[in-house]
Amino acid sequence: MVSVFVSAYFLYGVKRELEPAGGGGVGPEGLSADCDDPKVTPSRLLPLKTVRPSDTSRTDPVVLVFVESLYSQLGQEIVAILESSRFRYRTEISPGKGDMPTLTDKDRGRFALVIYENILKYVNLDAWNRELLDKYCVEYGVGIMGFFKANENSLLSAQLKGFPLFLHSNLGLKDCSVNPKSPLLFITKAREVERGPLPGDDWTVFQSNHSTYEPVLLAKTKSADSLPPLGLGPALHTSVVQDLGLHDGIQRVLFGNNLNFWLHKLVFVDAVSFLTGKRLSLSLDRYLLVDVDDIFVGKEGTRMKVPDVKALLETQNHLRTYVPNFTFNLGFSGKFFHAGTDEEDLGDDLLLSYVKEFWWFPHMWSHMQPHLFHNQSVLAEQMLLNRRFAAEHGIPTNLGYAVAPHHSGVYPVHVQLYDAWKKVWGIKVTSTEEYPHLKPARFRRGFIHSGISVLPRQTCGLFTHTIFYKEYPGGPKELSSSTLSACS
Ligand SMILES: [Zn+2]
Repeated sequence: MVSVFVSAYFLYGVKRELEPAGGGGVGPEGLSADCDDPKVTPSRLLPLKTVRPSDTSRTDPVVLVFVESLYSQLGQEIVAILESSRFRYRTEISPGKGDMPTLTDKDRGRFALVIYENILKYVNLDAWNRELLDKYCVEYGVGIMGFFKANENSLLSAQLKGFPLFLHSNLGLKDCSVNPKSPLLFITKAREVERGPLPGDDWTVFQSNHSTYEPVLLAKTKSADSLPPLGLGPALHTSVVQDLGLHDGIQRVLFGNNLNFWLHKLVFVDAVSFLTGKRLSLSLDRYLLVDVDDIFVGKEGTRMKVPDVKALLETQNHLRTYVPNFTFNLGFSGKFFHAGTDEEDLGDDLLLSYVKEFWWFPHMWSHMQPHLFHNQSVLAEQMLLNRRFAAEHGIPTNLGYAVAPHHSGVYPVHVQLYDAWKKVWGIKVTSTEEYPHLKPARFRRGFIHSGISVLPRQTCGLFTHTIFYKEYPGGPKELSSSTLSACS
């Protein structure tokens, strides 16, 4: 509540002192620097609209996405999230002024949600199309999502045309938190503050005194003087706002930047779910298995030593505080056991002394690619060597999962591999990143061949040739962002 009152004070008391950037009030269309707009009246004087809930029986579960162009970055990211989630969508190039696609088919709505890559294209629609779209949204309980991406020409402070909502642009933000009262939260949790700077210095924050606006994400400005001081400690500014529909009967979610910030991706998915009455929604269950291939494979001088093995176990224990029973799945090639320096061989010994702490899977005796073996019995012979190694060292041999080096022979199917796996190891499950093709990762699918289930596999961009954390191409920050995207 405090932030709402503070905002009202800010807008009606202090705001007039702010001059729009560039002077003269000339800014992008859809934003007005004029704070004395007679349409802006404190919300308590206006009757609040009621919102029609998303009517699941009257609209098709399809998202209408207005993109800036076929190649615009944000538009592609929006589409990628919808595709990853297996949601149906249709893209249209934002006309600015012009035709709206047909929204209804007889008395059925063709879309359950409308997304604008650039929200200004929505607020600047010509009156005819705007009325058409808004009427459709009210009538069918359809929500709108939109992004406001500031550029160097954006006004520092402006009003969103036709809405009791003010925007302050080109800010650097830090310490993002989630409003626990936001009704759209589902995957996104409000427990912790994301400390540190948010990516970019082109953030927009939203301010309003109308009760239809509920913050979703809040953050502080990086420099204390970016916005006038609000009096009550460090101010939290709204970087993602939810319009509850009390202003004009349409629910909206507006983002003050693009999708580069990882929390925006979660809020985006939650907003799609909320605004479609959970029709376009994913379950909260996630199945996660972390395979660590190439155990024992590294060259001398690059292998795990005692502290590395200890770190592996400690990391597993740390992850178990978040994910009960989380267990690394180690893929071993027995031929290279004890093939390191003395120090590294001690690492091998320690790892095997922890054998019961981990899960294990065969990764071929000598890390050979199975598709190079045409003779099934020769291939089986290689597998038997690894199996014998496992038995000698107490490595479990009954877990039923295997990964082929480079996923060779899984797809396209090399029948000798499937047969030998079943015969020697009783394999029931494997994984590959090749079906139906490598890229894009979100289109990978699973299949079953000859009684073996093949899971689609994600990679995190961390491969055997990266030995040291600090030497990851692009640095540890790049590694953490590539790992995050592999998990999302
Ligand atoms: Zn490997």
